[in-house]
Amino acid sequence: MEEKRIGVYVCWCGTNIAKMVDVEGVAEEVGKLPDVVVSKNYKYMCSDPGQELIIKDIKEHNLNRVVVSACSPRIHELTFRKALTNAGLNPYMFEMANIREQVSWVHTDRKEATKKAKSLVTAAVARVAWHEALDKRKVDINPASMIIGGGISGLSAALEIADAGKQVYLIEKEARLGGHIADVDLTFPYMVPAAQILGPKIKRAENHPNIEVFKEAVIEEIFGYVGNFNAEIKANGSESRSLEFGNIIVATGLKPFDPSSVDLHGYGKLPNVVTSIEFEKMLQSGKIETRDGKEPKNIAIIHCVGSRNNDYHEYCSRTCCMLGLKYANQIKTALPETHVYEIYADMRSFGKGCEELYDATAKRKVMFLNFDQREGIPQITKANPGDCCEMLIDMKERLSNTQIEVPADMVVLLVGMEAREDAKEVAHHVGVSKCGNDFFIERHPKLDPVATTTDGVYIVGSCQGPKDITDSVAQARAAVARVLAAICQESGEVEVTPAVVNEDICCGCQTCVNVCPYTAISYDEEKNVSVVNEVLCKGCGTCGSACPTGAIRSRHFTDHQILSQIKGLMRTEMQEV
Ligand code: SF4
Ligand code: SF4
Ligand code: SF4
Repeated sequence: MEEKRIGVYVCWCGTNIAKMVDVEGVAEEVGKLPDVVVSKNYKYMCSDPGQELIIKDIKEHNLNRVVVSACSPRIHELTFRKALTNAGLNPYMFEMANIREQVSWVHTDRKEATKKAKSLVTAAVARVAWHEALDKRKVDINPASMIIGGGISGLSAALEIADAGKQVYLIEKEARLGGHIADVDLTFPYMVPAAQILGPKIKRAENHPNIEVFKEAVIEEIFGYVGNFNAEIKANGSESRSLEFGNIIVATGLKPFDPSSVDLHGYGKLPNVVTSIEFEKMLQSGKIETRDGKEPKNIAIIHCVGSRNNDYHEYCSRTCCMLGLKYANQIKTALPETHVYEIYADMRSFGKGCEELYDATAKRKVMFLNFDQREGIPQITKANPGDCCEMLIDMKERLSNTQIEVPADMVVLLVGMEAREDAKEVAHHVGVSKCGNDFFIERHPKLDPVATTTDGVYIVGSCQGPKDITDSVAQARAAVARVLAAICQESGEVEVTPAVVNEDICCGCQTCVNVCPYTAISYDEEKNVSVVNEVLCKGCGTCGSACPTGAIRSRHFTDHQILSQIKGLMRTEMQEV
């Protein structure tokens, strides 16, 4: 049996971990465990000197397994795996114990935190002992790409890829390209007409020799894996097509919140309460007028409708504060005598040029009134006959701490943005996960914000969360860089931690086929066994836990590994007793 020689490295993460965990004590303690050859602590394990320390030890001490006890594996697992590779060791002979997010950041008692850190590192040492070497797989990359969504993000991505000489299939659900921006009059903060930004892009995409546009398109199925996807779609009337491509960019956008459920705002009951989407159309038409064709003397703009409110959506929709400022300016330009009230909870004007627009708006005699969401949202009621206006907005103004009534002939609700109703379907087709609010989840929010956990699938723009045009385009171009890099290499490597089926005990029940979230398992009718596609398998372990006969197991999640890990956790507890 192979001698196990384990190196353990406990990271301080500056003071992030060291302030709450006795890192030297942890390293000393785990150094006494069986098979541990070296155990060290260092200020920043992820730094170049930190990685060099591991590489040097692997060579000097002939280590064949490594444990790093630091931050989340989502942040630095790849960094350390690369260090193992550089030292000539299989990168999968590695385990990470998270003593930052799971220990130092969530505990206040140093003694208890240190005890927990020891447990986690001990468990990682016990687990890594059962790791086996795995190989990455090489796959050819089809140079064509599919882009789902023909809004500003999808169009930007499509043109970039097509201009680089590569084929793009642009899939749009609606009968026209452009997405929500097509319904916008001027864009903030510089008041550039949306049509000026969008029009040339649509025209170019529709006429580009490398872009095939599919409108009114329905994706029936997407199969395959990075470099080798294929899809069945229906589009342009009754036409069915099979497409083959290597990468997918998802740019499906979002949809506006429907304020009908917010009783206090009276949307749907009071005719001159309109949404930002409806007001935008009014601006596009060049006429700001009430339903009965009159010029409004008082217009109120209410912020955070459906956003930052636990009854609807907790998150900030990010673009509506600026939209409110844009409207105030457009109203003041079109109707200089009209009183404009910005009724806001917090003013979020963080983008380039946005704070300047806020300042400029304040100078145009726009009245800013602040409310506290926690004390209730403004209530809109019909005014009495003979009053100066059609509606009254009852609110507690936070800065003056007074209950006031704001007169209004028109109220614009800055409705929040939410995930599209077909998000679940799209997520299923492309194999990405959704957060609690149904927006798609990126591989890492900071370090890999446009990739997903499915290789070759990228998410850009507002399908990942509300975004303005600038951020959407930046994301689209970031994804294009990834796609073109993959295409240029002609082949790519995919992570493999696959499940394997023991055909001798597989009874062909297909339970695993039905539970695999990555559709990585198929059924071989002839042999009456399940078969795992190693490129699609993410090693999530779902199949292993569902299989009634124990025939399928996920390497790196074997019973030995899990049970050893549990024993490792209990070892520290037992010592304490
Ligand atoms: Fe509210 Fe402004 Fe955030 Fe929109 S951007 S949800 S209006 S704080
Ligand atoms: Fe075979 Fe287990 Fe899959 Fe059933 S669940 S088909 S026994 S591997
Ligand atoms: Fe599918 Fe997960 Fe099993 Fe792999 S380990 S085959 S991804 S269920």
